[in-house]
Amino acid sequence: MKAAVCRDFGKSLDVEEVALDQVHRGEIRVKVSACGICQSDIHYMAGAWGGELPAVFGHEIAGTIEEVGEGVDDFHPGQAVVVIACCVMTGFGAVVNTAAVAPGDSVVVIGTGGVGLNAVQAAVVCGANPVIALDISPEKLPVARSFGATHSFDARADGARETVRELTGGRFADVVIVAAGSGQAVEQGLRMIGRGGTVVVVGMPESAAVSQLPVTAFAYQGQRILGSKMGGAQPHVDVPRLVTLHRQGRLKLDELVSACFPLDHINDAIASSSSGTVIRNVIVFPA
Ligand SMILES: [Zn+2]
Repeated sequence: MKAAVCRDFGKSLDVEEVALDQVHRGEIRVKVSACGICQSDIHYMAGAWGGELPAVFGHEIAGTIEEVGEGVDDFHPGQAVVVIACCVMTGFGAVVNTAAVAPGDSVVVIGTGGVGLNAVQAAVVCGANPVIALDISPEKLPVARSFGATHSFDARADGARETVRELTGGRFADVVIVAAGSGQAVEQGLRMIGRGGTVVVVGMPESAAVSQLPVTAFAYQGQRILGSKMGGAQPHVDVPRLVTLHRQGRLKLDELVSACFPLDHINDAIASSSSGTVIRNVIVFPA
């Protein structure tokens, strides 16, 4: 089978023939029909998080189960593997599982890529109001509105904190979801929460990134900062829930796909994904 192999960090991927190991106990072999390109794949390719090479990235797959290993009882060949991109589970779970946003909470989402847009739509599902989206790419702001944000503005705008104060009737945000992989974005989020507010850190910058914490205000106002990996998701619980919401028309999934590319054009797809204006590019494989 063909795969896009990373042999050097920071270089293009090589599309080449690879052989798969046999299916071991507890494993499943899936024939991949499509795979989303996640920002984490791009970070890994750049070497931002280290790791061993050569490597094949990609973790947002849809396909059909071909073979199951010994001890796998709850899946069988021929079964479809649902595509819920990790950005859906991560953004949605950060709001629902980690922050436990309640109806009427004011929510700010910093960074409106795939994860941030799903945090926006999760906040809407939870009944949050207002839902304020911030990004440094102005072209992403109307997209955030189309996913349900009540307000959106440039994260670098003068008086961004003051705008959040006004939009929340003076109480600031109950919850800030930091979906941008940046230490500065975390610091911005900390300045936008109110008394008892929570900052959820979801976006992952390069390994060395740090943020400063305004300790006194943080303690005095009884605030919280929480990390969220993959939205704290339990796939058995969360994936069916997301599928139901999608079928009810309350969770946009199709709108997350910006463009589809064949595997041979994966480097073009990655270059376009890195441009910042794309939500998700998807690699599609012949049937
Ligand atoms: Zn991912």
